[in-house]
This record gives sequence, structure tokens and C-alpha cells, in this order.
Amino acid sequence: MSELKLYNTLGRNIQNFQSQIPKKVGMYVCGPTVYGPPHLGHVRGPIVFDVLRRFLKYQGYKVRFVRNITDVGHLVGDADEGEDKLQKQAKIEQLEPMEVAQSYTDQYNWAMDQLNVQRPSIEPKASGHIIEQIEMIQTIMDKGFAYEVNGSVYFDVMAYSIEHKYGELSGRNTDDLIAGAGNESRSLEGQDEKKSPNDFALWKRATPEHIMQWTSPWGKGYPGWHIECSAMSAKYLGESFDIHGGGMDLLFPHHECEIAQSKTAHNHQLARYWVHHNMITINGQKMAKSLNNGIKVTELFEGNHSLLSRGFGPKTLRFFVLQAHYRGTLDFSEEALIASEKGMKRLESAIGIIKNLKVSDESTIEIGDVKSAIFDALNDDLNTPIVIAQLFELAKRIQIVNDGKEKINSVIRDEIGQLMNEVYNDILGMPITSNESSNNNLDEIMSLVTDIRTSAKNEKNYALSDLIRDRLRAAGITLMDSKEGTTWKID
Ligand SMILES: [Zn+2]
Repeated sequence: MSELKLYNTLGRNIQNFQSQIPKKVGMYVCGPTVYGPPHLGHVRGPIVFDVLRRFLKYQGYKVRFVRNITDVGHLVGDADEGEDKLQKQAKIEQLEPMEVAQSYTDQYNWAMDQLNVQRPSIEPKASGHIIEQIEMIQTIMDKGFAYEVNGSVYFDVMAYSIEHKYGELSGRNTDDLIAGAGNESRSLEGQDEKKSPNDFALWKRATPEHIMQWTSPWGKGYPGWHIECSAMSAKYLGESFDIHGGGMDLLFPHHECEIAQSKTAHNHQLARYWVHHNMITINGQKMAKSLNNGIKVTELFEGNHSLLSRGFGPKTLRFFVLQAHYRGTLDFSEEALIASEKGMKRLESAIGIIKNLKVSDESTIEIGDVKSAIFDALNDDLNTPIVIAQLFELAKRIQIVNDGKEKINSVIRDEIGQLMNEVYNDILGMPITSNESSNNNLDEIMSLVTDIRTSAKNEKNYALSDLIRDRLRAAGITLMDSKEGTTWKID
């Protein structure tokens, strides 16, 4: 088997992956700021990093996967200005900020469960690590890379730039940054406290009406957005760890700031591999609140959105995401989802017939070429579209055997079954449910259930017939009544 290679944003090239400690991987992925319901923009990263994590596990690594919850410090404006996103939402909903955080954390995790994204090994919250953040800020100050003004603490990019390169990850240079920061942001709240517009907040002084505030050596306040990831990753993964993941939209300023903080506090490069996934566009347009094209995950599942004529299951969404390479753009549209769903069903119906393939003494087909192509693709910077294309090739061969045009022996048949299970179910995280592997049983059971329901209706026991319909619906099966009788479909 070839070795895993990943595109490292730090260095901008494909690199051989080698873990710091043999057979162990520490991985940190920036999690959500929990001030709203999970939407389409939330699904790609978790699915991509879930596949990376699953593939590493498949290769025998023990993976510690940390994904944080941002529940404090993320302000409305990127340049350390405006209200805290959670506090703003709490006012709208007339709730405590921590009630808002809990509710949306639960909704996010529910969506991740639906999408078959494995829960993180550790899910630290920013608000639960204030002491660690204060300690780290103090260290950065003690080393001369941060300064206090009026109870706020800012990172000194100028001081940092003497020995380090601020912008090494994003490729931006500080002169451009200063020019780009412009005068308008200097006039924003707190900006005039900064020595340079590039400086960013490590700690912000809280006004009395600010709800989320803690005591610090610099007075009452709250942490800046970037420091939580530096502090929490160090706590759970060590000062230097293997993989840091996130969306390309976090490259600057968030990840750049994480690196600067960790380098100055710990003298380490933070993560050795920086893996960034590209964003999802909708019908060719960037997703944005102002464009009003954000689609909530629940709207996607239920089909309850102007861009959708019906709902799509979480498996379809996962398959759709994996059909694109994670560094490429992914354009969302109903047509694209329908195509993904079709492909997924074709693949799964092939998986469903593997067990029933008639075996001969000899086999006229081989699958060695497909198997090596699949693992070469996974190792080649997690090229899931090629993996899926190879699975379709496998499905084609299954179909040919099923049509009696080629022969297969039990060894090759079992090998196909195992490969499908390992790649589709275990690595891509597409659950092979019993209805794909035992469709025949399901047909019989469903004909029994619909018969019972029909007789319940004939006896005017509508409570029972509705209960059967609703329970099936919850299990992902829709009944369709017509004059000819009742038919059913799997959602
Ligand atoms: Zn982060």
C-alpha cells in the first residue's frame, strides 16, 4: 500500500504524512460558533475530516480528534469589533447566552449524528477554558509579543514579525495587510488602541452590560476569538501536534493568528500539517446571509426550502460531499443532489446483490486493480471522487456477474463484499443498512405491515393506521395510498 500524502497549506504542496508519534495521530479541527442552527455551510468540513479520521484509523492509527465549540469571544466583525455573536443572539431569543450555546450545540451534534460523522474524542468549549487562555495570554505578554491598553490585550504583530513571518500560512504579507486594513477599520471600536491595524485582540475589556465576562489580570473581560484554539489544542494534543483542519475561510485571520500565538507562547509550529477544505456554493453563488441563500440542515432533510422541491436524506448529502475532492469547490443544487442520490442507489443496489451472486468453481473476474486504485486514491490527498468512481467500476462487475456474463468464485465474491464494506461503510462512512443487504426480507415485512394497516382502515381503526404510517415515516419509509392500494418507498 502506498503512503498517505496530504496537501499541506503550510508549504503549499503535497507532503508525505508522518505522525509525530508512531501509530498515533493528534488532530484538531475548528468547530462551530454556536449562535444559529446548523446549515449547509456546516456540513462539508466535518464530513471531510471524518473520512480522514476514519482512513487513519483504518490504517491502524489511534486518532485523538479534538473539535471545539466556540461559545464566547467570536465577535460579529472579524477585526475584533462589534457584539459577541452569542450575546447578540441571546438578546434576540431572550435567553441566557449559555442557553443559546447549549441549544445550538445540541442541534449541531444532532446534524452530525444524522450525517454519520463520528463524535470528537474531546469537544472542548471556549467558555470552559478561560483559565488556560488567560495563562497563555500572560505568557505571550511576558515574552514581549503582546501589550495591554485600557484592559484589553493585543498581539503585537510588528514585534512578532522581527523573527517570524506573519502571513506564512495564508501567503499574505503584512504591508498588504496594513494597506488593506484601511482607515475605516481604525475608526471602529477599539481599533485606535492597537499599535498597528494588523494586531489582534487576545483579551477584550468588557463593558458592564456585557454578560459573558471573567476576572483577569487586566480586569473584567473576555477572550479574543483566536486564543481558544491555541490554548485548547495545546491542552489536549500538546504544544505541537499532527493535523490542524478547517475551512479555507478560516485561513486568515483565524489560523494565522493561532500560529502566531502558539509560536510565541510555546516556541512550536502548532500543527505540522494544515488541511483546508474548500467551501460550498449554491447554484454558483457564495453562501451568505445577505444573499438569503443559506439552507438549514433540517430544511434540506425535509425539503422545506424554496430551492428544493423535496427532502434529501443525510446519506445523500454525505455522498454528494464526497463526490468532490475536498480542495475543489462544490456547487450545491437540487439537480446535483438528485444525481448523487441516483448514483448512491445504483451503488447500493449492487452492494445488495453481492451476497446472492451465484458462485462457480472459477472466477473470470478479478478485483485487484480496483482495490489498489481505491487505496492509491485515498492516499493521494484523500481523493474521494476517484474512490467513488472505482466503487462504480466494482458495481459494474457485480452487475455483469449477476447478468450471467461473467463467473465468480466464492473467494472473489467475499473479497468484493469485504472491500465494499471496508471502503464504503468504514472509510467513507456511508452506512450499509440492512435494507440494502436484505431487500427481499424488507419486501415481505412491508407487505405484511401494509396488509395490517389496510385491515385496520377497513375496521375504521384510524388511530392504528395513522400510527403505522407515522412510525414508518420516522423510520424513513413513506407509504403512498391510492385506489389500487398502498405502495411504499424508502426516503
Ligand atoms: Zn480555531
